[in-house]
Amino acid sequence: MIKFFRKRPEREIDKIIIHCSVSDYATRKWFFNLHVIENGWSDIGYHFLIMNSKSKPAKTLLKLNPEHDGRIVWGRDVEIAGAHCRGDNKTSIGICLVGIDLFSARQIYSLITLIEEFKFMYPNIKLFGHYEMESGIKQGKTCPNIDMNWLRKQCRITNEKT
Ligand SMILES: [Zn+2]
Repeated sequence: MIKFFRKRPEREIDKIIIHCSVSDYATRKWFFNLHVIENGWSDIGYHFLIMNSKSKPAKTLLKLNPEHDGRIVWGRDVEIAGAHCRGDNKTSIGICLVGIDLFSARQIYSLITLIEEFKFMYPNIKLFGHYEMESGIKQGKTCPNIDMNWLRKQCRITNEKT
């Protein structure tokens, strides 16, 4: 298991919300420019970014960078509420997959690994896609363009009330 945390974050966290960048290509700087420079937010809106093979220019003829594929990059400090889902930022973690509606196996592997780590720290944590949340429904979002029932099954998360 990849270890991201020395200790459980102190902020109260009860859910993870998954997003996608709705772009083929993105770097941490790309998110920073969009959220901090353009939107004027204090930091990147998501806590984690999961890169794809297009996230960094490759030196190879393939124009894909397999080393970058599935790489988990820090966005905002997990101790601080994100800016990714209006009304649900305070108690959630926001994870953004780089891509539109096609994600690589490495990205999905990294996503599940990250979710598993939160599940270890918060056994009753719930898992949602942005499109399932009130603000996402209002905005007609399909983000992250993944079947969340499938993802919850992979992570053995039922979202049942405890
Ligand atoms: Zn979203």
